[in-house]
Amino acid sequence: MPGVYIKTYGCQMNERDSEQVSKMLSERGYAMVHDETEADVILLNTCSVRDMAEQKAIGKMGMLRKLRQQRPHLVFGYLGCMAQARGESLLKTSPHVDLVVGTQKFHRVADYVDELLHTRMHALIDDERRPIVDTDEEPGSQSTIRDQDLVPRQVTAFVSIMQGCNMHCAFCIVPQTRGAERGRPINDIVAEVRSLAERGIKEVTLLGQIVNLYGRHEFPKVDGKSPFVQLLEAVCAVDGIERVRFTSPHPIGYRDDLIEAFTRLPKLVEHIHLPLQSGSDRILKIMRRGYTAEKFLSLATRIRDARPGMAITTDIIVGFPGETDADYEMTRALCEAASFDNAFVFRYSPRQNTPAATMEQQVPEEVKEARNQDLLNVVNRHCAEKLQSLVGSTVEVLCEGPSRHNPDRLTGRTRTNKIVIFEGAPRHVGAVFPVHITRASGFTLYGDPVLHID
Ligand code: SF4
Repeated sequence: MPGVYIKTYGCQMNERDSEQVSKMLSERGYAMVHDETEADVILLNTCSVRDMAEQKAIGKMGMLRKLRQQRPHLVFGYLGCMAQARGESLLKTSPHVDLVVGTQKFHRVADYVDELLHTRMHALIDDERRPIVDTDEEPGSQSTIRDQDLVPRQVTAFVSIMQGCNMHCAFCIVPQTRGAERGRPINDIVAEVRSLAERGIKEVTLLGQIVNLYGRHEFPKVDGKSPFVQLLEAVCAVDGIERVRFTSPHPIGYRDDLIEAFTRLPKLVEHIHLPLQSGSDRILKIMRRGYTAEKFLSLATRIRDARPGMAITTDIIVGFPGETDADYEMTRALCEAASFDNAFVFRYSPRQNTPAATMEQQVPEEVKEARNQDLLNVVNRHCAEKLQSLVGSTVEVLCEGPSRHNPDRLTGRTRTNKIVIFEGAPRHVGAVFPVHITRASGFTLYGDPVLHID
């Protein structure tokens, strides 16, 4: 049975795509292996959002090349966003690579791997080996990420509901790597969620690049409700599913019907991601984000009013081209005002073929770094205060399994997506129960289960 090793870079969408590729390869008789030295096929599922992610994957592929000395038949492949963005040029960067498959062709990976492995095993000279590059568009590809194998006792799962984005933010390469917005039909998604629930899944996270604008071009509104709210209602109605999350949304997708949904769908958790990117209206406009700082803050307030205890996390870019000290101070002030539960702060990194990459007034690296450090201090302070405020309280936790750092303890998440570590027994995995929080450290809460679970 040939072994396949897949390494995944980047976001949850990529994790979900890799799961799907693993499932398809397993069904063909391949064995998924955790050690690259035991593999006959090595696939890197890549990310293009930042230059560093691309360089990591290219560096890793370069280091893997030596494995072919012991295993001459070894097949190397790039999948995903960087494969889509760079295509055939990756064969020059990594000449030993056999396969480059873009984001709309994951369902073809098993066929290509079969073909390449067969050729590698039987070709006598290297010239007979022809790399395969497939980065074409494929109608309906949004519906090919839909089946998943679950590990024993898995209780949470990602569900891909759409692909692509039509927003064209000036810094973002996603519209090029993932294409235009395409949503899966609601019935297909609900069928997948129902099957997950039947296999023990308690929490689903709906995934899309611009998830809260799901289906806006394909499916009609019903009773004034957007396709995304219709989908949320249908997913929340699935028996056995106790929590519903979604990521990654856009602020302009939080329309009245979605905010109202938080007042009446209890399975929707008290956590949203609300990517800010900048607190300066001038920079937001150049970024083409479609909202102002004031609108963003008022949206955060409306969402918190709709659901008490709502946690809000965000993404922020510092050092976008033309960002002055005054622009940065506005971002900093907005972070203080919004008091996010957590924030991912990124130094702007130019992405090839995006409008921002060629803008004048690129910000020097040392300025980006200083703003990055300063903003991290602000957001980490707010994060620590939020966690500290929970010490002494009791929170609802979904137990996910043994803690990664200490397998003698269990880990779970609150509805607000905070990690909690506690003592328990294996039978607690998959249960939802109250935990009394005794301390907070770093980004983690520690506590004791309040009820004894039988
Ligand atoms: S909405 Fe998100 S995925 Fe779409 S272009 Fe903007 S940043 Fe990229």
